[in-house]
Amino acid sequence: MGEYIDPPNGHDIIEEIKSLPTVGDIKNLSDKIFPDWIVLIADEYSTDYQWLTENWKRACEKIGVNRAQIMLVNYTNFEDNHTVLKMFAETFTRSGFNIRSVHDYVICSKCGSVIPNLPLMNIFMEKGLSVPKKWSSKCNVCE
Ligand SMILES: [Zn+2]
Repeated sequence: MGEYIDPPNGHDIIEEIKSLPTVGDIKNLSDKIFPDWIVLIADEYSTDYQWLTENWKRACEKIGVNRAQIMLVNYTNFEDNHTVLKMFAETFTRSGFNIRSVHDYVICSKCGSVIPNLPLMNIFMEKGLSVPKKWSSKCNVCE
């Protein structure tokens, strides 16, 4: 299969996603259809990037759900023939998950919270967002 493109029975899968009662069921189906898409699941962003948590909180408040977890996934281009993958991503997002590319983030080896990688931190810095003085793969408090 190409990079997470719609399988031939994509329409049926979308209907199945809509019919599943829990987010756990949807996660199981996602793991079955696109086994390596979800790479890591974490509970929090590093406290060094508090505004990432604030943005996530606001997004959840807007749709009226509680924050669930951060999902780091292998592929985040939902254009063209990726309607099934997009449906999974949207369904998780509507359940309070924050979907991010595993190619943009790392996990703190001490506490397991999510940290932007160096290229992404530089982009945030250029945008004037609050970032640590020096990039690290660990939280400030975990050093
Ligand atoms: Zn940490």
